[in-house]
Amino acid sequence: MEFDHFETHAIRNQLERSQYAEHSVPMYLTSSFVFEDAEDMRASFSEEKETNIYSRFTNPNTTEFINKVVAMEGAEDGYAFATGMAAVFSTFASLLNSGDHIVSASSVFGATHTLFTTYLPKWNITTSYFESDNLEGIERLITPATKILYAESPTNPGIDILDLERLGEIAKKHEILLVIDNCFATPYIQNPIKFGAHLVIHSATKLMDGQGRVLGGVVVGKKELIRDIYLFSRNTGPTMSPFNAWVLSKSLETLAVRLDRHCENALKVALFLETQENISTVKYPFLASHPQYHIAKKQMKLGGNIIAFSLRGGLASGRDFLDAIQLCTLTANLGDTRTIITHPASTTHSKLSKNERLKVGITDGLIRISVGLEHVDDIIKDLEQALVM
Ligand SMILES: *Cc1c(COP(=O)(O)O)cnc(C)c1O
Repeated sequence: MEFDHFETHAIRNQLERSQYAEHSVPMYLTSSFVFEDAEDMRASFSEEKETNIYSRFTNPNTTEFINKVVAMEGAEDGYAFATGMAAVFSTFASLLNSGDHIVSASSVFGATHTLFTTYLPKWNITTSYFESDNLEGIERLITPATKILYAESPTNPGIDILDLERLGEIAKKHEILLVIDNCFATPYIQNPIKFGAHLVIHSATKLMDGQGRVLGGVVVGKKELIRDIYLFSRNTGPTMSPFNAWVLSKSLETLAVRLDRHCENALKVALFLETQENISTVKYPFLASHPQYHIAKKQMKLGGNIIAFSLRGGLASGRDFLDAIQLCTLTANLGDTRTIITHPASTTHSKLSKNERLKVGITDGLIRISVGLEHVDDIIKDLEQALVM
């Protein structure tokens, strides 16, 4: 039967049953697959026949996971990776040549930024940056060497929203590829392909798994681009493991219901934070006070589970606040069932200068919360007692 709803794809898009008639898809922990005879082996290797050969290339569990994400994002094809960063790196490494140029938002995931500043220049690939709140500046940065326009929305940890439709128009006009890291939104909340993205990247480690268990990454988008990414990966080996794919494919079955609650809790927490005296700003996409609220409403189904807020007291009060937290966890991950609190200025972004931090919206008192699935009253109670300083 044909179906086209997100929740049904997430649950019913599964591998064919084996001879054991299992209801829940089993794990295929095998490094290679067997051929019937010499002709079968030849046809498989020459790709005349679509089949599994070796799990560095494809495996039934990774295929199932990829097929789900492809359907959820409305993409043509996809490929899965060991981590989100393997997905990001393999995308650039397979599509770019020496001399090529990237135009990226300045506020991107820390390791992606390090890739632009430290590693891609080794292969003579350079990057220019635009501020998330100034899309007008993008076109001035595009040169004949520019191949990729790259961005995340919402951004981390500033929770800025970039107008994906506008980015899609710019990429189309200049005939460059639009690549969006859609990790913070998930395919349930936002589908960048609808707005003109050629490729969409996810760290599956975050909300896709949602329970802080496994690492993973995935890229979906145009078939011919995925073909290049697949061939690069098949030869260089950043592939997702069948075990992680099995876990993640099950995780996707509950993505929609988890996200509904994550976002409901996050909005309540954001509204609570807005009423607090020692907080100067609260940034959450679906708060009417968010500077890009109307863009968020246009391109996102829900507001996501990440909130950024600024304590009035700066660096010291940020650290005091973290020390006073009891229920929520201080950890580097996000998008978990457990609510997670981080203080970027003293941790993830401490290597940047204060000025560099301010440029990407990180004040000394900025706190990022990844709102979990505990009862929202308990989350708020913990924040409330920690705010009494
Ligand atoms: C975590 C994250 C990544 C990297 O993913 P890993 O699975 O940790 O390698 C990339 N982009 C964004 C936006 C992330 O939050």
